[in-house]
Amino acid sequence: MFKGIAASPGIAAGKVFLYNTEEIRVSRFKIKVSDIPNEITRFEQALIKTRFEIITIRDNVATEMGIKHAEIFNAHLLVLEDRMIIDEVISHLRSQKYNVEYIFEDVLHKYIRVFQKMDDEYLKERIADIEDVGKRLIRNLLGKKKRTLIDLPPQSIVVAYDLSPSDTATMHRKNVIAFITDIGGKTSHTAIMAKSLEIPAVVGLENITENVRNGDIIIVDGTSGIVYVNPRRSILSQYLREQKKLEKFNKELQELKTMPAQTRDGHRIELGANIELPDEIPAVLSYGAEGVGLYRTEYFYMNRQGLPTEEEHYKAYRSVVEKVKPNALTIRSLDLGGDKFLSQLDVPKEMNPFLGCRAIRLSLARPELFKVQLRAILRASAYGKVRLMYPMISGMEELEAANICLEEAKQELESRKIAYGKDMEVGVMIEVPSAAIIADILASKVDFFSIGTNDLIQYALAVDRVNEKIAYLYEPAHPAVLRLIKNVIDAGHSKGIWVGMCGEMAGEPRFTPLLLGLGLDEFSIPAPSLLKIKKVIRSVRYDEAKRLVDEALTLSTGKEVEALVSKRFRDIIFKIVG
Ligand code: PEP
Ligand code: MG
Repeated sequence: MFKGIAASPGIAAGKVFLYNTEEIRVSRFKIKVSDIPNEITRFEQALIKTRFEIITIRDNVATEMGIKHAEIFNAHLLVLEDRMIIDEVISHLRSQKYNVEYIFEDVLHKYIRVFQKMDDEYLKERIADIEDVGKRLIRNLLGKKKRTLIDLPPQSIVVAYDLSPSDTATMHRKNVIAFITDIGGKTSHTAIMAKSLEIPAVVGLENITENVRNGDIIIVDGTSGIVYVNPRRSILSQYLREQKKLEKFNKELQELKTMPAQTRDGHRIELGANIELPDEIPAVLSYGAEGVGLYRTEYFYMNRQGLPTEEEHYKAYRSVVEKVKPNALTIRSLDLGGDKFLSQLDVPKEMNPFLGCRAIRLSLARPELFKVQLRAILRASAYGKVRLMYPMISGMEELEAANICLEEAKQELESRKIAYGKDMEVGVMIEVPSAAIIADILASKVDFFSIGTNDLIQYALAVDRVNEKIAYLYEPAHPAVLRLIKNVIDAGHSKGIWVGMCGEMAGEPRFTPLLLGLGLDEFSIPAPSLLKIKKVIRSVRYDEAKRLVDEALTLSTGKEVEALVSKRFRDIIFKIVG
């Protein structure tokens, strides 16, 4: 039995698929002239095999996720079929007489170096394709197996040292029934993505990759963070029973779907969903969400070829807003950086990416990129209730600079005679402590606040949200965090604007009474958690929640606050959390 950090709830039992992201090492050795034909044949066979693999993945992705997501693989095929590269490998093989994997890697590196020096953005974007294809081909030359997360056998449980958010985005519940990792935290974007996709996950298991082998049977309990490797039959059947119980409970929650999110004494809350991909909308609607409180648009830039055009952004946003109508769609502008990276953008590596050129900072540094997205958001706002939200605002100047870009985007649309919603609400995420502290100043310039606790907690408590080693310090109920949240809500209300929360804290039942009592107007959470939160809201009284907060604010530690909540609301919360 192994204990890690519970990252995405649910129970799964299945077979281990070890996902190895390790570097492949290519050695160099001399070959004889008589070996050359054999090396050429190996190269040709690897080319054929790689081509076949890429076509299979491309076709699978096209059926599962749509043609657009599959485009990247067409670019990979182009690299593979590039005559110049192939001819150069064969001629170097003849002249240098080294093993073919070494020659191939050497030729590829030469191309990469040339592309890196070019000013042409398009060619720079090709580097990632060349690297990807190159690795795949070398793996085939070496007879090493690596499969992507797209074409796994059914019922796999992925075990990896780490997974990037874009890796997770390509998982499909049909074949990946759970995943576990050595590193990572509860609010990493990989964990958040897993919740949205309803894939149970446990992270921060430290050395689980060394303790399992391909094909081992494992149980993943994403609610408690416990993992069993090759469990006894009795444990397996106990978990299968648990799984049934969970399914039954989730079915019962369905009754709440059409009921309002309202406390027992009639205090009404808006309950929206967080999404990463437009594909999540059917689930969002099936859980009865009142719109989308956070659309993490950066995923639109990932796992694809090139940067999205204004038209592509616009079509995606418009289709989502039309589906959530008459409810609102809150679109957050690009939040790249931190633990979310993009191969197409030429952004230098940083020592502290979470404190670096991330989110609005990147958008303001690249206004041409930012305005493509802003124009698309504005255009979509003509078709429903769109709200725009800026991430990572740390002070007034950033808000003003973002609004200048927005004004320019509006003017550009006007000059193109394109319609947009004139009364689109514009708000900011409050996720940097400085913004939380000056919330009274920011409140007079925006239509709403949405508190991003995932970052607010990491910045306020100086705890990296993806580092499992210090996860014990990541405390949403820490008095400093509660005070910041209170300050934001009170400041917003005193200026007459509504205040929501779209960080993961809003989706955890044990904090719901506190957030209600603090006066939060809107909760936006991963869709699968919606009904649980609604259940808590409908089980408590607003006046009780306010009294809870009065007392919680006198306490000195997060643990004391959590103990108080569980003392007061044990029956309600335990029934839901288990
Ligand atoms: C947050 O920081 O709470 C948030 C919702 O944004 P993200 O998790 O995407 O950083
Ligand atoms: Mg954030």
